[in-house]
Amino acid sequence: MPILAGRMSQLGTESAFEVLARATELQRQGRDIINLGIGQPDFKTPAHIVEAGRKALADGHHGYTPANGILPLREAVSADLHRRHGVTISPDRVLVVPGGKVTMFFAIMMFGEPGVEIIYPNPGFPIYESVIRFSGATPVPMRLHEAKGFSFDAEEVLAQITPRTRLLIVNSPGNPTGGVAPKAEIDRLVAGLARHPDVTVMSDEIYGEMLYEGAHVSLTSYPELEDRLILLDGWSKTYAMTGWRLGYGVWPKALLAHAERLAINSHSCVNASAQYAGIAALTGPREPSERMVAAFAERRAYIVPALNALPGFRCATPGGAFYAFPNITGTGLDSRAFQTRLLDEAGIATVSGTSFGAFGDGNVRFSYAASLEALRTAVGRIADWLGTVDRTDPARRRA
Ligand code: PLP
Repeated sequence: MPILAGRMSQLGTESAFEVLARATELQRQGRDIINLGIGQPDFKTPAHIVEAGRKALADGHHGYTPANGILPLREAVSADLHRRHGVTISPDRVLVVPGGKVTMFFAIMMFGEPGVEIIYPNPGFPIYESVIRFSGATPVPMRLHEAKGFSFDAEEVLAQITPRTRLLIVNSPGNPTGGVAPKAEIDRLVAGLARHPDVTVMSDEIYGEMLYEGAHVSLTSYPELEDRLILLDGWSKTYAMTGWRLGYGVWPKALLAHAERLAINSHSCVNASAQYAGIAALTGPREPSERMVAAFAERRAYIVPALNALPGFRCATPGGAFYAFPNITGTGLDSRAFQTRLLDEAGIATVSGTSFGAFGDGNVRFSYAASLEALRTAVGRIADWLGTVDRTDPARRRA
């Protein structure tokens, strides 16, 4: 029997992948499944980006690149951050990695150990809590409030900081809620952090260009955080490039060498052709991304009122990303039962709010990265299913 390290039992997972596996299995059995479970754009990577990746392969870019990424890509990231946030960030501080997740893993492993506390959004991306536990640190949930459009409350977060807190994770626009923290709330958080100079902040801004009202507030635009801010961003969502595995972190100077060493120890570098594709994404036409976000906006305008009209549903309007996170307690089902039974009985894949942390209980994530037609069919099927669903608990149903 292999004897694993104790930390392996601490590692969680992302239930969206389990839902995807179950949905695929049902499809294989011939069922008609609408997948609102998975968090990726239902668009192809724009053609000019694909072409740049193909050309890089044809041109012979087949070898290792510098561990931190090729310079023209890091320069393009720096220029893009200037375009978006008006900030000047040296390409030297950019570490290109295989997907947004890797910056998260590095940041948490860099700070997490037994006795340390890490504050993370809840309901939030499940990998935060999973890796915090894996590192041996104690996860401290930062509650996101439905009544605040799923923002955090700055005073509440600041009150959670203790001498053991080393890292604070922020994610706006957020997964699974689509919530956006208002600028005033971020201002209050940043002002309060002046009292806690030893706390590093990781800001996950992977949905920063998927915003439906107002402008994105990046934590990079607060100069007082420069020495202790890790920015997580990447190409997966904005450019529909989830399968290319391309992301980046901007690291404070003092942490950069550590992050790069983690990269060298784990993946050496990101595959070269994806990096060339990444340059094309940042420097090429913006219309394909804009069209995609416009399509999400149209779907949001449909799905939020449609969910609110379903009996037992209450759905806050998400400010960004492509998720709606309705509260479904009024249906008489708990989140997990809702997820399982909606998929098995009505053929609609969603993800239970509990997969995103304890504070997600009572909610379910609907990814609206699906066509309007699919969304309309899904809502119709849910309405029919709600009209007939047996709400007695499973034990009594079996009896
Ligand atoms: N951060 C958040 C909040 C996400 O929702 C995701 C993906 O779903 C990621 C990071 C990871 O992105 P990537 O696929 O680039 O690793």
